[in-house]
Amino acid sequence: MTTDAPGSVTDWVSTGHLPGEEAVRELVAEAHRRFSPVQDCEVARYIPALAAANPGHFGLCVASTGGLLFEAGESTQPFSIQSLSKPFLFALLCQAIGEDVARARLGVNSTGLPFNSVLAVERSGEGLSNPMVNAGAIAATSLVPGDTAEAKWHFIEEGFSRFAGRQLQVDQAVYASEIASNRRNLGIATLLEEQQRIWFDPDAATDLYTRQCALSVTARDLALMAATLANGGCQPCSGERVIEPLICQHVLAVMVTAGLYETSGDWLYDTGLPGKSGVSGGMITVCPGKGGLATYSPPLDESGNSVRGQLTARFLSERLGLNLFASRPLAPF
Ligand code: GLN
Repeated sequence: MTTDAPGSVTDWVSTGHLPGEEAVRELVAEAHRRFSPVQDCEVARYIPALAAANPGHFGLCVASTGGLLFEAGESTQPFSIQSLSKPFLFALLCQAIGEDVARARLGVNSTGLPFNSVLAVERSGEGLSNPMVNAGAIAATSLVPGDTAEAKWHFIEEGFSRFAGRQLQVDQAVYASEIASNRRNLGIATLLEEQQRIWFDPDAATDLYTRQCALSVTARDLALMAATLANGGCQPCSGERVIEPLICQHVLAVMVTAGLYETSGDWLYDTGLPGKSGVSGGMITVCPGKGGLATYSPPLDESGNSVRGQLTARFLSERLGLNLFASRPLAPF
């Protein structure tokens, strides 16, 4: 038996296409119809501004790597990005400081614990965690290039906007609300400081992290941001290269390990895809080479993951044939 000669990473990519446009459009509409009636959970309340979210809102958008959009429901309803910022910050950071440095300083292993766990920092060797949970994301924010908070903020805002393909703005009400109720994240940053795992003033790094979580996006924006991660780091509409393909590939690996916190294993079992959730009800799913799915639906399960978002991702992963682990025998037996 012969095998292909080893080549560069771009020779070894996930291939295939989404089904035809009509089929995708119908399945997106079907997912919306099917999961709109689901109503047995509550919106997040620990950030006061998020408690006002409309539990009936349900938007979804699939963006292909070719830049086609398939939408249903409230796909242009703005909401704060929250934890969905984490993979994009990590991607921009790896691009700026090198992924080996980022990995050595932040860690990339699953914590198996809730997103705001203090125990995760204490339990892991040398204070390492994972950039998909708060401790790792606050540490990642501290490493962002720039000597001042404003310089760091400029890097974050500009980088996220390049992923979205439009200028993003902070939702000031959500930012102010979370700043006023942010003791736990400040505690995590203080613990990181004690362990010498933070590289900027801990309060200022937490403030920047909170500001980035308050960036206002829509499901359509997030689908395009996810499609950028599915497209080797090139934004499908603007054509801009936001990050290198290899960094993109590694960011998706880190999303798989902890994108849905302590339920990342269940998520992977159900969808077979990298995903990330946020406490405002957003969720992204990335299918390398094919596209990105984003949903917005505020009611959450106990781990802080959107209930309709998970149902939609599972349904569309199956029906659109996205699961990275699914295969059939080569010959019919
Ligand atoms: N800003 C939120 C926090 O740090 C983000 C958490 C989330 O979306 N899971 O608590």
